[in-house]
Amino acid sequence: MKEACGVVAIVAPGRDVAHICYDALYALQHRGQESAGMATFDDHQITVVKDNGLVSHVFTDTTLRALAGSIVIGHTRYSTSGSANWTAAQPVYRSAGSSGFAIAHNGNLTNTTALADDAGIQFTSMLSDSDLMAELLAREVEAGHTLAESLGIVLARCEGAFSMVILEAGEVHAVRDPYGFRPLCLGRLGTEDRPEGWIVASESPALDVVGASFVREIRPGEMVSITKGAMTSTQLLEPAGEKQKLCIFEFVYFARPDSYLMGHQVHTTRRRMGELLAGQSPVEADIVMGVPDSGVPAAEGYAKASGIPFGYGLVKNRYIGRTFISPDQNKRAATVRRKLNPLRENIEGERLVVVDDSIVRGTTTRAIVKMLRDAGAREVHLRISSPPFMWPCYYGIDTPTRDDLLAANHTVAEMNEFIGSDSLEFISLANLRNAIQLDGECCDACLTGAYPAPTPVVLGTAGSRW
Ligand code: SF4
Repeated sequence: MKEACGVVAIVAPGRDVAHICYDALYALQHRGQESAGMATFDDHQITVVKDNGLVSHVFTDTTLRALAGSIVIGHTRYSTSGSANWTAAQPVYRSAGSSGFAIAHNGNLTNTTALADDAGIQFTSMLSDSDLMAELLAREVEAGHTLAESLGIVLARCEGAFSMVILEAGEVHAVRDPYGFRPLCLGRLGTEDRPEGWIVASESPALDVVGASFVREIRPGEMVSITKGAMTSTQLLEPAGEKQKLCIFEFVYFARPDSYLMGHQVHTTRRRMGELLAGQSPVEADIVMGVPDSGVPAAEGYAKASGIPFGYGLVKNRYIGRTFISPDQNKRAATVRRKLNPLRENIEGERLVVVDDSIVRGTTTRAIVKMLRDAGAREVHLRISSPPFMWPCYYGIDTPTRDDLLAANHTVAEMNEFIGSDSLEFISLANLRNAIQLDGECCDACLTGAYPAPTPVVLGTAGSRW
C-alpha cells in the first residue's frame, strides 16, 4: 500500500473540533480523494466515522454533530488499485486497554513482511500497513504498556515513512519517522493571551483555514503528545542522520503552493525551478504556459527569466481529481480529457513552451501535447521542472514499477518522440536543489536511486530493469 495522504489532529477544549477538523481535512483534500474519516473522543468513548469519497461527501452536518468531543484526528486517503474499499479507509480503530485507540497514517512502511512474520501475523493484501501498526500497538497495550510507550516500542521496529496521528482516551499523539519523509506541522488555536488548543496537520494551509497560527514542524523522530491541559514533546526515535529527508516531490508537485515546508513557501520554490530551467534550457517561442496546477508557477518563472510572455493555454476543471494520484490506468486516461481543455485563441499558430512538473508514465503528457497540437499549436517545447523520474518510491507515494516509468527505459530523445513534442528538457538535479535551497535535506531517491532508508525489494543498478 502506498499513499499520499493527509492527517490532522486537534485538541481544543470547549470547541466543536469535528467541524474544525472538517475544514482542515478539506484543505488537505489534494493529498487524497479516495476516502476520508475522523475519530473523536467525548470523555466517554471513541467514535469513528469514515467512508469512501471526498471529505464533503463523507461528512454532513448531522454526522459532524454526532462526532462530539474536544479531541479529534482526521484522515484523507489516496489508495492504490484494489484497496479502494471501505476497510482501507482511516482512521483505523482498535479496541485495546481500557478504551482503545485510533490511528491515521501518511506514509508507507517498507518492512511489513518482516514485522508481520516476527509477530506471527498473516499479512494479506487486504491489510494495510496502518492495520499492521494498529495490531502491533494493541498487543503492546494489552501487555500493559501505555499507548505512548507502545508507540516507542513498535515504531522503533518500523522502517519507511510515517507521519501519523494517534487518538486515545483524553490524548492525541503525533509522530514523524526518523527521516521526516512526509510533512507534519504543529499549530496553535486561539491567541497567545487566550490559547484555545493545538492542531497538527500534514500541511500549513490546514492551519491557516481554521485560524490557527503556525508554531513549527514536527521534527524527524519526534512525538508530540497533547491533552486538554498540556502539549509535550519527546524525541521518541533517534533521527536517521544529521539531515532530514523530506520528499523533494512535496516541493515539485504534492504540497499546496501556499504551504510552507522547512521555511520555504512551495510556490516560491516552483517559480525558481522555472527561472533556473529557462537559463538551463532556453528555446525560441511565442508564449510560455504551465500545465495546471503545479506547472503554472514554474511556467511563470520560466517566462520571467526568458522574457517570453506568460499565457494560459489549458483550462482545468477544478472538480476532477489529480491524475498522478488516480488509482487506475483507464480512469487516468479518461481523467486527462475531462480535466483539461485547450484555450484555442492562445494556442493556434503559436510556438509554445509548456512547463509541467514531472513525467511518470508519459501517457498524460502525450495526451496534453496531442490536445495542444489539435488546437493548432505550431510547436510544442516541453520543459519539466523535475529531473527524469527513474526509480519507484517506497516512502508513501504510489508510483509504477520501473517497467512503467518512461524515463527508466528510454533516453530523453526517445521520450520526446513518444510524447510527440518538438523538444523536451528536464531541469537538472543541481538546479532543482538550488531552487529549493535546502542543503541535502530532501529525499530524491526516485530521481537518483539513492534510497536513504531500506527498500522492500532488492534494487538493480541505475538504468537496469527488473
Ligand atoms: S522516492 Fe521520490 S517520491 Fe518517494 S519520498 Fe523520495 S523524493 Fe519523494
